[in-house]
Amino acid sequence: MLLSDLVTHKKDFLSSDVSLFDAIERMGKEGISHIVLIENNVAVGVLTLRDIIGLYRNGIEGEKKAIDYATYPTISIHDDRPVEMAVELMIDYEIRRLVLIDENGKYLCTLTQSDVLTYYESEVHTAQEVFQCLNRRNCAITVDHDASVYDAISLMQHKNRDVLIVLNQTLPVGIVTEQDVLELAYRQVDSRESIARYMHSPIITVELNEKIHHAIEIMKERDIHHLMVWGRDKELYLLSEKDMLLNYSTALEMKLESKLRDSKATYNLLGLAFCEIIDIGEDQIIKWLNAEAMMTFQIKIDDSVSKMFPAGVWNGLMVTLRMHGGVDKEKIEIADRVYEVTLIEAEVNNQAIMKLFLNDISELIYLGEELRKSLEHTIELEKEKSKLYLDVASVICLALNQEGIVELINPKGCEVLGVNQEEVIGKNWFDTFVVYEQVGQVKELFYEIMNGERELVEYFENRIWTKKGDERIIAWHSALIKDSEGKNIGTFSSGDDITRLQESEREIERMAHYDMLTNLPNRLLLNARLKHSIERCNRENTKLAAIYIDIDNFKDINESYGYTVGDAVIMEVAFKMEEIIRREDTIARIGGDEFIIVLESLQDLRECDRILKEVVRIFEESIHTKDNDFLLSASMGITIYPDDGEDAQTLLKNADIALRRAKEAGRSNYCYFAQEMSVQLFERVLMERELRRAVDEKEFVVYYQPQVDLLSGRVIGAEALVRWKHPSLGIVRPDMFIPLAESNQLIIPIGEQVLAQSCSTTKRLIDEGLFSGRISVNVSGKQFERPDVVETLSRIIDESGLEHKYVELEITESVLMSNPKVLGQKLIELKALGIEVAIDDFGTGYSSLSYLKTFPIDKLKIDQSFIRGLESDEQDRAIVKAIIAMADALGLKTIAEGIEEVPQSVLLKEYGCQQGQGYLYARPLSEDKFVDFLKYNEVSKS
Ligand code: C2E
Ligand code: MG
Ligand code: MG
Repeated sequence: MLLSDLVTHKKDFLSSDVSLFDAIERMGKEGISHIVLIENNVAVGVLTLRDIIGLYRNGIEGEKKAIDYATYPTISIHDDRPVEMAVELMIDYEIRRLVLIDENGKYLCTLTQSDVLTYYESEVHTAQEVFQCLNRRNCAITVDHDASVYDAISLMQHKNRDVLIVLNQTLPVGIVTEQDVLELAYRQVDSRESIARYMHSPIITVELNEKIHHAIEIMKERDIHHLMVWGRDKELYLLSEKDMLLNYSTALEMKLESKLRDSKATYNLLGLAFCEIIDIGEDQIIKWLNAEAMMTFQIKIDDSVSKMFPAGVWNGLMVTLRMHGGVDKEKIEIADRVYEVTLIEAEVNNQAIMKLFLNDISELIYLGEELRKSLEHTIELEKEKSKLYLDVASVICLALNQEGIVELINPKGCEVLGVNQEEVIGKNWFDTFVVYEQVGQVKELFYEIMNGERELVEYFENRIWTKKGDERIIAWHSALIKDSEGKNIGTFSSGDDITRLQESEREIERMAHYDMLTNLPNRLLLNARLKHSIERCNRENTKLAAIYIDIDNFKDINESYGYTVGDAVIMEVAFKMEEIIRREDTIARIGGDEFIIVLESLQDLRECDRILKEVVRIFEESIHTKDNDFLLSASMGITIYPDDGEDAQTLLKNADIALRRAKEAGRSNYCYFAQEMSVQLFERVLMERELRRAVDEKEFVVYYQPQVDLLSGRVIGAEALVRWKHPSLGIVRPDMFIPLAESNQLIIPIGEQVLAQSCSTTKRLIDEGLFSGRISVNVSGKQFERPDVVETLSRIIDESGLEHKYVELEITESVLMSNPKVLGQKLIELKALGIEVAIDDFGTGYSSLSYLKTFPIDKLKIDQSFIRGLESDEQDRAIVKAIIAMADALGLKTIAEGIEEVPQSVLLKEYGCQQGQGYLYARPLSEDKFVDFLKYNEVSKS
């Protein structure tokens, strides 16, 4: 049913220029509760009974213009809309009337609740009973029958009610409605008069269980708008037309109503424009809209939705809705703003409606734009920053794509290669710059990264070609680059040009391992080679001979002819001996006139004999120098591996014993070592038993050797050195038992005892304020072979209560290099615990400094063998200088051990060595003596 069916032509409208009085007169005459003011047939305002009552109470004159007191805007609705829409509007907006207009917007009539009720009466079945209509709101407001008209009007306004019940004592005696008040106004009754005079009496009452349709019949019959009901609780209720209306419209029961309101309240809060739309075929009109929509788009209920949009847009939205069942967040520009438009179909009260949401995202777009700009700016800045980083980086930065094509190289990279960027970018790195022999190897590594087998290569050295044709050695650190989707797209590498470093390293190594005079391996290198040869013998199951050669009475030449001549003789001897050995053999000079020849892979001892005879022959001939010829002789002692000793040290020691025998037997002789020559084995068995007992009895004590700052002389630490306090032998030095302890694992409990003792002593000294440095504790390679070494060490330290930062562990270079991977990991773990690490006896092993760099090391301890010769030996000086300079470059501290003389400390200071340790400052001291030393030191300082 459409609203047009309900149009009645009442005389409820007046021209907008009428006076208040005219309006009141018309209301009274026609018995209506409103007047619609019309201008050119269009409703421009409504004046209700209630408005008039308010004005009357305030004593307003009737000559005033009605339009000035009318309410705006009027909710108007076209007459071709369904009746349900009007009902919902009345409920939603809590209004009693709606203005009906024709298709031209001309005023047709005003629909009141009763008009709609009439419709429902006929349409809807009316089986419900009165009590179903009652709720709190229907509780009657009462006024005493003595009250004045003025009081009654005040009460109506205050309580926002249009009906009052007049009570006499507790009995309802009459009813007063707004309509009555209007009459009083019309008649200009004095408001001070008693209300009882003007009330309707008696009151019509219905029962709680009266059928509603019956109640409506009564109202119609009696032409009244209210009925009174006695509640179960003996309270008074008034039933109005609206209550009936609500109840009749089953689709709009209270529950639904509140639900509807709830959702609508939500829409009002949403901050987005929202409309409910009904489709009336040729047009879609707004059935409900929230405040936001109303204000933003200047539209109102019953308008055509298309009004909101630029021409044609709405039709487009409808097409999308029809085709896709909805419009989802389509961006639409309306009056310079951008909205996200959502349109869906829904059903409310069995009625198909559309819901339209318009979300103003202009702000968002603006913000997004701003954000994008600021992001771009940040990225630009970041880019500049990273470019700056790349520009100033002292390492090569190189990015390759997945094919190995150079995508980026920094200035340092160009500098090393001797090219400009354009000459590199776009070139295949491997084919252009990597030295031919290494291309395969480097590519292999690259593809391992690209294939995701490893994301990082922490250290890798390879040689590259510069434009000039030089080779440079670069130590790389390479990482995989992925794009935002996680795809592998290339690598980024930083490369350190370590050519110089390696050159100096090689130089140091050469100096450390070769004799400067003869260029033959020195004792260090000999030891290493011997170890190596022993391993090879084991693999090949062959033998090895070590020949210890000493020139007889060589001292005399030095004394009579001077060192230069002595040196010339040595050089000549060395030269001749080099000629007689095979390529795989080694000849080393291990002292002034002492040489050792190592013959490897001997199948047959006759080969050894042949060499021995050749050596003898060399000395049978005279040795020529520039000015002199010398007739010399040499003595030799020979040991055979594995017969005469299991390790290099033993072999050399036994060769020495054999040499002495040879000398005893008259010089110019050679002698094979024989087991009887040594009581060593026997000693060893005895000693081992003793050592076990010593571990059980805890016979080990710790001596402390102070370490000083070379510049200030301040004590900055101490090295813990173990001593064996043997019950009958007295103090035994570590050299005597540590090698044995290492071979039978006893070093592990010994090392732990030393650590525990030295930590608790240090803790005590720190607590007493005597000491504030670090304690350096030697840790054997055997200890590091234990998987739980880090936990064990840190547990022992923790048990002493000493803070980790006061502990430094010393590990020798050769131990570190024996298993750099595992040891490196352990050092990282120690470092993480705050424990420092120093490399002991540095210079005697074979570590590459650039490789050392990859370990978390704090300090290098330059081996005392180099310090000893510091003054006299140019070679030692050169080595020490180089070590210090390079440690400095790598950010490592240096300490020199074995400083005995002042000139040594002066030189060390000059070379930049920071710390020192040695007899010059103090010998290793027993705990008591160490305390005395610290106390004295304290006193002498102050
Ligand atoms: P190291 O760790 O290189 O210790 C330095 C050695 O040089 C100590 O010998 C010390 O007394 C000695 N020394 C210090 N200043 C001078 C000096 O001015 N001139 C001379 N000629 N020597 C000096 P020590 O105490 O006989 O220890 C020898 C080696 O035994 C140590 O060499 C270390 O490798 C090992 N060691 C000592 N204590 C322990 C320990 O608790 N555990 C382990 N695993 N090894 C230890
Ligand atoms: Mg040490
Ligand atoms: Mg040392």
